[in-house]
Amino acid sequence: MLVVGAGASGLIIAQRFVDAGLTVTIVERGSVGGEQSNHSHGYMHRGHIYLTPSLELVRNLSNGADRWRAEMDALGIEPINDNSSLLFTNAYEADVAAAAWSRAGLTFHEQVGAPPGVEQEGLARSFITQEATFDFTQWLRARYERLAADPAVKVVQANVLRLERESTAIVGAVVASGGEEVVLASSFVVLCGGIGNLELAATVTQFRGNALNRSSPMLVLRGPELPSLSAVFHGHETHGMFIASRHTDEGTVWLVSNYVSYAGEAITATGVRLWLRDIRSTLRDRTSGLDDPRNVWGYYSAPKGELRNIRTSINSHNVQSYGFDNLLVAAPTKLTLTPLLGDVVMDEVAQRLRRHKRPAGSRDIETGSPVSVSPERWTEATLHPLSSLVDV
Ligand SMILES: Cc1cc2nc3c(=O)[nH]c(=O)nc-3n(C[C@H](O)[C@H](O)[C@H](O)COP(=O)(O)OP(=O)(O)OC[C@H]3O[C@@H](n4cnc5c(N)ncnc54)[C@H](O)[C@@H]3O)c2cc1C
Repeated sequence: MLVVGAGASGLIIAQRFVDAGLTVTIVERGSVGGEQSNHSHGYMHRGHIYLTPSLELVRNLSNGADRWRAEMDALGIEPINDNSSLLFTNAYEADVAAAAWSRAGLTFHEQVGAPPGVEQEGLARSFITQEATFDFTQWLRARYERLAADPAVKVVQANVLRLERESTAIVGAVVASGGEEVVLASSFVVLCGGIGNLELAATVTQFRGNALNRSSPMLVLRGPELPSLSAVFHGHETHGMFIASRHTDEGTVWLVSNYVSYAGEAITATGVRLWLRDIRSTLRDRTSGLDDPRNVWGYYSAPKGELRNIRTSINSHNVQSYGFDNLLVAAPTKLTLTPLLGDVVMDEVAQRLRRHKRPAGSRDIETGSPVSVSPERWTEATLHPLSSLVDV
């Protein structure tokens, strides 16, 4: 089995293959978790982020969140926050959401007053939910080290340049190694490359499938007295906002985003400035995060590579074969859903693998030095005095 990408999806799927007795080569061009998986808030969604989530979505998210919880418990990884606040300025929207969440079987209860760091003024209703937040670096490291130590696994640090096909079969993945191009042959290829999936699939087919690459900005705010906070401000179209905290010796860090994303993998400088102005005004209106002049801020842009059946709406987790017998492109729309993505891939592989043998003429490749595990992206953001955010 060849797995392209060592983000959360690649590691979960590789582990499932190993557990099923298969041998696996994982190819990673950067670091473990170094693209989407370390940009994430690490928020284990259950469905409260949506005003009227479908039963299926709630079932999937809750299943994923429960499985992550069990996985983290087994590895001794504690959540950063165990609960989350869901905050509404619009009482009607809050009523609609509460009714829909109850119908979907979600657990939540009314919160009296605003959580620390959030302005009470303007809040119509707020709820406490059971959505936990984790720093996934610990998980990525633990899972990667376990896989890399397994004799059934080979991890190769290389960029997959292209796939090679014969009729409806993928016969190899071409990587650059020691100054030459090497074809890695395998019975089956699973692309877990996030934003890399689109480009790799395009090397063997003109069919674009439902791969979608976008980019989301993230504000990083650090302050000596910022409270720990996990909060979703509803009102996606207008003043929605999402805050998840981390802890450092210099104070708490808020990772702040709204529901805006941009087409493609890069955002223009003007786009960034407009986005910063927008999020600044939401933060100022709804939190005390910008009140303390000792606070510092930074920013990064996070790529998102997804497979969506309906482009305008979230749909759980997805695989696509692009018409090939032994290729699957796998992507979750949320980290929360990666355990379910593993299930779907295993089902598909079980049906297709029998029909494919490892092509002849394949050769071994040097794995090179071990692949490093990426820290969470916010730790690398350059931080500026708060006064400069006012001037953006
Ligand atoms: C800003 C942001 C916040 C988010 N917050 C949350 C959240 O709070 N909760 C949640 O559930 N989800 C969240 N998500 C979604 C979540 O991060 C992703 O769904 C998940 O991390 C996808 O994991 P992945 O392994 O599929 O992709 P990735 O983590 O992107 O892994 C893909 C890997 O493939 C490698 N790769 C790509 N192309 C090649 C190639 N050609 N050759 C070799 N290697 C290659 C990359 O280097 C990368 O390491 C968030 C996403 C973003 C962008």
